[in-house]
Amino acid sequence: MNESICDICGKNGAKIRRITRSYGKGENLLVIENIPVISCPNCGESYLTAATLHEIERIKLHRKSWAQRRNIPVAAFV
Ligand SMILES: [Zn+2]
Repeated sequence: MNESICDICGKNGAKIRRITRSYGKGENLLVIENIPVISCPNCGESYLTAATLHEIERIKLHRKSWAQRRNIPVAAFV
């Protein structure tokens, strides 16, 4: 399940993991949860797809309206 072709080595078996990442610091700290990361057991690479990177930029742009204020602003990757 959830296996796909690796963009780096072209072999089948890449899996999607979900990670949490933080961007910026202090008042500008933004935490994004559930970012999909492609992880390939064949070549050992982990990478974000172009679409994911694009979505992260979009979340950053809309952080003020989308992020829920906890102790730190947190946005969930959809
Ligand atoms: Zn690979």
